[in-house]
Amino acid sequence: MKIFKAAIIGLGPSGLAVNKILYGDTYNEIIAFESEDINKRDNIFGFWLTDWMKPFEKIIEKKWYKWTIGNKNTEVTHTSLDKPYCVISFKTWKKFCLETKNKLEIINKEVVQYFPEQNYFKITTTDDKIYYAENIYDSRSVKEKDGELLQHFFGINITVADNTFNENKLTLMHFTEENNVLHFMYILPFSHNKALVESTVFSKDVLHSSWYREKINDYLKKNNINKFKEQSSEKGVIPMFFAGEKRSINSNIFNIGIRGGACKPSTGYAFSFLIKQIQLLKYSKKNYVNIHNFLEAKMDKIFINFLKNNKEDGSSFIKLASNLNGNEFQSFMMGESNLLTKLKIINSMPKLLFIKEFFK
Ligand SMILES: Cc1cc2nc3c(=O)[nH]c(=O)nc-3n(C[C@H](O)[C@H](O)[C@H](O)COP(=O)(O)OP(=O)(O)OC[C@H]3O[C@@H](n4cnc5c(N)ncnc54)[C@H](O)[C@@H]3O)c2cc1C
Repeated sequence: MKIFKAAIIGLGPSGLAVNKILYGDTYNEIIAFESEDINKRDNIFGFWLTDWMKPFEKIIEKKWYKWTIGNKNTEVTHTSLDKPYCVISFKTWKKFCLETKNKLEIINKEVVQYFPEQNYFKITTTDDKIYYAENIYDSRSVKEKDGELLQHFFGINITVADNTFNENKLTLMHFTEENNVLHFMYILPFSHNKALVESTVFSKDVLHSSWYREKINDYLKKNNINKFKEQSSEKGVIPMFFAGEKRSINSNIFNIGIRGGACKPSTGYAFSFLIKQIQLLKYSKKNYVNIHNFLEAKMDKIFINFLKNNKEDGSSFIKLASNLNGNEFQSFMMGESNLLTKLKIINSMPKLLFIKEFFK
């Protein structure tokens, strides 16, 4: 009977990070289970360049020092010279995380269950095969929950005529007026003629892909982009609620990624936080680390409750952006805002509603 040092359940970005950051410099034997074909996964992860992300600077695909937040009437432009917005693709992250000294065995199967037996775990897959490991890193997560808000999106990578996009400035949020849902466009101009154009919604229910496509087409038309070639697409659902399974009572089970509470639910940003989580786990004696501090998490909950209980068309986001400079804004998005920035954020929100949500 072979007992692996660790079993990674799910080779999304967090499972991959465990292989690289925790075991990459060891000669341990690790087993990873993945139910999907991750070679087919291709999407882009955005984040601001915090200190903990600097070790990965060489695999960053593009940086933008300017971004905008607005709607048809207003546009706020932010600049940050030392903390730009960056992207890393899943494909690049996968390649980087699989180049390690340790021996990784990848099993393309779904894990049904695992439970402790003596000083190791017995793991069962759908074909009733059994595997053994000393530690479990579990990244399976619940993406949807009744009554909770979701961030859901669909985007296309397009090529267009030369000099169509300003490749130095990204559109972080361009809000459009919609019935019953909060909607914005997210545009990543990789070059003057290549961009990811994404339609994003905050609501309780995921929409049909034709809905997002219609918004993308409307946006392109309004910006006089009538001819484009679609290269690829990406879609996703990100929970706007904190995961329920954060901490396991078994000290050898590590809940990681979104499952382990890495996502900042008010924004849907999770990639850089899950990397921070694995970095912190490396030096922690515990099986769980707090990625979002108490105050940041509380503000997130207030903001989500505010979105849940009020009709929002993006004006609150634009007001918040206009009250902050680029560095303050990115510090808030990356969970590193100081007290003054927090006060500015609170000041941007409708006072009565904020107080009501605070005491809930
Ligand atoms: C298209 C897309 C774009 C995103 N863009 C950004 C972004 O720009 N910035 C940002 O910060 N965040 C972004 N996110 C959010 C977040 O970073 C991702 O959701 C990220 O993939 C979360 O990583 P994870 O490892 O926690 O979970 P996942 O990526 O969901 O990985 C879990 C893996 O486990 C596998 N699995 C599940 N159940 C089993 C089982 N029983 N047995 C075996 N395998 C199993 C799944 O197939 C999956 O591959 C994006 C998400 C998506 C979907």
